[in-house]
Amino acid sequence: MNQDPPGETRRDFITQTAAAAAALAAAPAWFVRAAGEPAPVKAEAPWYRRTLRWGQTNITEIDPARYDIDWWRGHWTRTGTQGVIVNAGGIVAYYPSRVLLHRPAEHLGGRDLFGELCRAAHETGLVVFARMDSNRAHEEFHRAHPDWFAVDASGRPHKAGELFVTCVNSPYYDEHIPAILREIAERYHPEGFTDNSWSGLGRGTICYCENCRRTFRRRSGEDIPRGTDWNDPVYREWIRWNYDRRLEIWDLNNRATRAAGGPDCIWAGMNSGSVVSQCQSFRDYKAICERADIIMLDHQSRNDATGFQHNGEAGKLVHGLLGWEKLVPESMAMYQAGRPTFRLASKPAAEARLWMLDGVAGGLQPWWHHVGAYHEDRRMYRTAEPIYRWHAGHEAFLVNRQPVATIGVVWSQQNMDFLGRDDAELFVELPWRGITQALVRARIPYLPVHADHIDRDARRFSALVLPNLGAMSDTHVASVGRFVAGGGGLLATGESSMFDQWGDPRQDFALADVFGAHLTRPLGASDEGRRKRNASDTAHTYLRLAPERRALVDGPHAGNEPAVTGTRHPVLRGFEETDILPFGGVLESLRVDAGAEVLATFVPAFPIYPPETAWMREPKTGVPGLILNAAGNGARVAFLPADLDRRFARDYLPDHGDLLANLVRWVAKDDLPLSVEGPGLVDCHLYRQPGRVILHLVNLTSAGTWRQPVHELIPVGPLHVGVKQPQDVRGRRARLLVAGTAVAARTAAGWSRFDVNSVLDHEVVVIE
Ligand SMILES: [Zn+2]
Repeated sequence: MNQDPPGETRRDFITQTAAAAAALAAAPAWFVRAAGEPAPVKAEAPWYRRTLRWGQTNITEIDPARYDIDWWRGHWTRTGTQGVIVNAGGIVAYYPSRVLLHRPAEHLGGRDLFGELCRAAHETGLVVFARMDSNRAHEEFHRAHPDWFAVDASGRPHKAGELFVTCVNSPYYDEHIPAILREIAERYHPEGFTDNSWSGLGRGTICYCENCRRTFRRRSGEDIPRGTDWNDPVYREWIRWNYDRRLEIWDLNNRATRAAGGPDCIWAGMNSGSVVSQCQSFRDYKAICERADIIMLDHQSRNDATGFQHNGEAGKLVHGLLGWEKLVPESMAMYQAGRPTFRLASKPAAEARLWMLDGVAGGLQPWWHHVGAYHEDRRMYRTAEPIYRWHAGHEAFLVNRQPVATIGVVWSQQNMDFLGRDDAELFVELPWRGITQALVRARIPYLPVHADHIDRDARRFSALVLPNLGAMSDTHVASVGRFVAGGGGLLATGESSMFDQWGDPRQDFALADVFGAHLTRPLGASDEGRRKRNASDTAHTYLRLAPERRALVDGPHAGNEPAVTGTRHPVLRGFEETDILPFGGVLESLRVDAGAEVLATFVPAFPIYPPETAWMREPKTGVPGLILNAAGNGARVAFLPADLDRRFARDYLPDHGDLLANLVRWVAKDDLPLSVEGPGLVDCHLYRQPGRVILHLVNLTSAGTWRQPVHELIPVGPLHVGVKQPQDVRGRRARLLVAGTAVAARTAAGWSRFDVNSVLDHEVVVIE
């Protein structure tokens, strides 16, 4: 199989290195970083640590007949692309393969398209990820090896369109795919491999093939579960078994590529920017990042609910697991991806641009992605170039940096699986989104922190947020307890700590003493439906703020009301003119510890229609909606049984966002590293490098902020910025890397303050 004599790999490598140097010498002036800027990554670092700009022309089966390699080479150079992802094999091969049943692409016609592209890229000084797609096959393959394919309970094959879905527990993954990887590595020497959909059948479909039955029985002594039952220990074991098998495949493929292509010939699969999607594909993000050298992110566009800011967050979430010294390139669609999808039409440039810029702000590396090698809508070829140009000019500030944030928002995949179950959007995603949107809106920098990393990362943070983190192991509970005992602040919402790691209800909140609140009765199995209803429905309910302040404000007074009692707590700042907030959720009684303070109580539902009936039947209850508690060392704890995070994600009422932001500021004792004042929705990301602070301001203000696509960019400004100065930063000068200017900064009391006059799409400020 190996066509090359020994030593060929090394000679190729030397040729490639020389070609890379030649290509760099020929690169346009803007491609060379500004004078005086250090190289962002040491030249001797492995390729997967220094390839900062990526590109992919996703080959369709008709392309071998029309692929204009010279034009695309020009595009690589114009965009300053340093690495390409090239379709190689899997469902179909884009080179003449000798592996049995590795079917050539429909119009390949004997052409070695992958080989030509791989050579062209290497000659141009680019690195190559050979792209695989190893999850299904055509009918002739199925006829030859029916036992390599996934089947349902009655033995019928699982199909995706005309193709048959392969089973992850079959020799397709143990033998066939590694044989292809070996062939490609030995013949073409790509730097590494990716795989579009390497993890096989998702959680929604159970395979009952002989291989699955046998291996699951060997592990558990049980039969494959008949269906989804999150309360069944066998189903739970099936979930864990599936996760473990994907990790085995990850390791198996890496062994194959490294054995054939050398220690740096890595296999990097492909992962999602959405944790719920990782769950549904059995990809254990933390375990994958522990073994990965780079994460190739398939997260191509926003949806209306999560916005562009989700991309910056995805970058921070993955780097939190992977480490900030490694790279996370992200496939960014140049075509109309999302809803609706038009593979051959250009994505509106402003929409594509903001997605890319928010990703870069979150530490992602750009990766333009076209489907097909020929397009009649040529506008898509113009989108990446200006961003890549800017990126190349300022790359030193965009990698090898540490994020600065004092708020950690805690997540775990276990919570997504076992609290979320079949309703992860309702129980996990919405509360998360509500909290993080409130933080973005308030320009409070935060980092996603995995529950396993609370102890590791505790020193970074002034406060942690548990957004309905219901399913917590005893270890996670203990970590949060230690954080608070050490003086850290805590905001927890909804059902946080109410369940164990399997999603089984506990007798009381595991963090009850920290919250200063206890369940009056433990949950039973019969409560599941009610929990779901309460979380999904919007009832005509309110929260009553304490203490009431009626006589203080202008308005009619009802006959027998008491006058003002006491002063409002600072977490209620901004609500001086109201005693109630709209709510929408449903609350039940809790037992509150003496010493804990109830700042909001539940007003039960009353009619909306007809208007004559819209008066509170029970204006006051003792059912708490917001509880503040003082823990050890003066730590501040806020427990918000009212699901305002979920409500804010869904209803977007400013009151909910404001109260969430107030609570975060209070539990963190206002220990925040950034303040940005001025109009608009601006996503702020702050970083440190030795001797400097770097601030990304991404302007998400537009008529399409919550409805894709953006038609037009609308500038905001001036923004009044304050950045807390680290010891090694004098902070008298702020360079604006997009405007291309510098502004003087005022320094006082450890803060550096300056104005950014106008931001169209983004600005990156370097404070030195
Ligand atoms: Zn199977």
